[in-house]
Amino acid sequence: MAAASGQPADPTDLREQLQQRELEIALLKEINELASSEYDLQRVFDRVVKLAHGLIDAETVHIAILSPDSRSYTYRAAIGAHAGELLGETLPIDVGICGWVLRHRRPWWRGALEELSDNERNLWEKKAGSLIMVPLTGKRQFLGGIAGINKRGGGEFTARDLELLTLFAGQVSIAIENAQFFSELAETTERTRLLQQQLEKANERLTRTNEELQHLAVHDPLTNLPNRTLIQDRLQQGILAARRGEEPLALIMIDLDHFKEVNDTLGHHVGDQLLICVGKRFHHALRELDTLGRLGGDEFAVVVPGAGAEAAIVVADKLQAALESPIGIEGTSFSIGASMGIALYPEHGNEPATLLKCADVAMYVAKRNKEAYCVYDDSQDANNPNRLALLGELREALQKKQMEIALQPKLDLVSDRIVGAEALARWVHPQSGPVPPDEFVPVLEKTGLIRPFALQILEKAIVACAHCHQAGHDISVAVNLSMHNLRDPHLPDQIADLLVVHGVPASRLTLEITESAIMSDPEFTMDVLTRLSGMDIHLSIDDFGTGYSSLSYLKKLPVHQLKIDRSFVRGMTSDADDATIVRSTVDLAHNLGLKVVGEGVETDEVLDAIRMTGCDQVQGYLVSRPLAPERFMEFLGNSPWPVRRVSEEKEAY
Ligand code: C2E
Ligand code: CA
Ligand code: CA
Repeated sequence: MAAASGQPADPTDLREQLQQRELEIALLKEINELASSEYDLQRVFDRVVKLAHGLIDAETVHIAILSPDSRSYTYRAAIGAHAGELLGETLPIDVGICGWVLRHRRPWWRGALEELSDNERNLWEKKAGSLIMVPLTGKRQFLGGIAGINKRGGGEFTARDLELLTLFAGQVSIAIENAQFFSELAETTERTRLLQQQLEKANERLTRTNEELQHLAVHDPLTNLPNRTLIQDRLQQGILAARRGEEPLALIMIDLDHFKEVNDTLGHHVGDQLLICVGKRFHHALRELDTLGRLGGDEFAVVVPGAGAEAAIVVADKLQAALESPIGIEGTSFSIGASMGIALYPEHGNEPATLLKCADVAMYVAKRNKEAYCVYDDSQDANNPNRLALLGELREALQKKQMEIALQPKLDLVSDRIVGAEALARWVHPQSGPVPPDEFVPVLEKTGLIRPFALQILEKAIVACAHCHQAGHDISVAVNLSMHNLRDPHLPDQIADLLVVHGVPASRLTLEITESAIMSDPEFTMDVLTRLSGMDIHLSIDDFGTGYSSLSYLKKLPVHQLKIDRSFVRGMTSDADDATIVRSTVDLAHNLGLKVVGEGVETDEVLDAIRMTGCDQVQGYLVSRPLAPERFMEFLGNSPWPVRRVSEEKEAY
């Protein structure tokens, strides 16, 4: 600004100075207003160059802003001649007078020439007169510079211009910095908003995944029904609600009949389809309110809120009805039955675990009695094969060699003589008395205990066979083997040892293997069966008709005998279908060169009927119940049928 000097002032000068001051004040006001009202950076730049344009009478005014890394600058605003060419251009910091100002952070005008190196001076002297530039220094940082090029009407920029522009730059820097700050703030806000959005999306995805995981944790992946955990939880909630509302609640446990056979013989794929289908049928038979779940394997459960015994039975009937029509899978149709156990709150318990246990016991009873359903009752507990405890006791019984056998005679229908016996495992539980093999054999099968068990039974049977021979009876013995025994590669050698030790020829031993066991792993069993048959041991297919054998396969198996399941034999005289099945099985077996044994002959009528079919042998209560070995010896001693004697000539067996 014009400095006061010692000499008296010229009035014209004074007026000019006054005008100039007014102009400056107006300008400052405008800048002030700019700094406080305009936050759009580009608009600030544009207004600043416009104001400067008038202020210093330059042909062109521009603003160069330093890059954040201070290595370059960009013309962010320009007005006047060639403005369009400059705008937006970016140059390195070491280029041009602009670069010099930004590097040195000092104004440039003609007077600056003194400060230049010779090199610079040579380079810029010509242009120097027509350029003025001052730095823009904000409160927080250095911003860049504002420049005027070519004084309008010719001539050079004056010291006054420099003074004015410097004052101006000092003020507008604040406006620019404010606007920069606001635009950064706006950017940050926008970035924050975007981040927030992404975060929300990620959160949504996480919630979904979490929900899926939670669903998986409590649902059965095959049927998508609640699993045991969720059923227990629903049961708990149901019990609490029932207690509050003073209402009853029922738990129905369901076990499919013969599912294992389907699974073992036709493969898991078919088994899985069947479970899915059964799940759907059950689901449709129930109300929204009821919770259906799969506990595992072929076990389902339903929590029925508000149901007492009668209502639970109605539900059980509906579930049974849902299975009435056969289920078609891959062209085969399956008739599948189910046994159901019902437990009730509050009668039978007020804890999920208790109700589950009671329903399990009731289900077991239903299965054993071949009933559709059974409601729990205290007295069933005595028969409760509490499986875990059972396992411990079984292990002990095996260690102490407490397993016994009962022998059931086989009557040959051609010679009308007793020619053999089947050894059936017998175990007397120290507290609950005799436990049927149907109950404890599956428990043994779940562990490795089935192997020592089979050996103990085999040894007892072979010993009994030897005793018979010592008494002059030519009796062969049959022993039941489970599928797991067939998987044991040591079994053939162990049997051979037992036969040698007790002096019994291999041909007097028959091994009974159920149809489903053979078909569960046909390749493998074929191998073991071939080895056993090669040792001269006879092989028999047990429970024939209940599984799903392939005939072509049957032909290849090295077996000697089929045992027709007692369910068909029993029905022979009352059910035409059963009679047909037995007759055609006998024909089929004979065509394949196999002998046939009919199981479960209880009456003379059935004996007559089965005799007519040409069946080779029978077994059943009519001839005798299974007997302890000593009783069996007595039976042989005074049997109504003659017993084949050792001296007698051998027939087919
Ligand atoms: P299974 O091999 O079919 O044995 C025949 C079953 O029918 C025996 O039941 C026998 O007592 C019964 N039974 C015999 N005659 C009649 C009759 O006229 N009417 C009726 N209703 N039933 C009759 P048990 O002894 O309870 O054996 C059941 C099943 O347990 C056996 O069926 C067999 O699969 C299995 N089992 C028995 N002992 C053993 C064994 O040592 N090892 C293996 N792996 N399984 C065995
Ligand atoms: Ca058998
Ligand atoms: Ca059988």
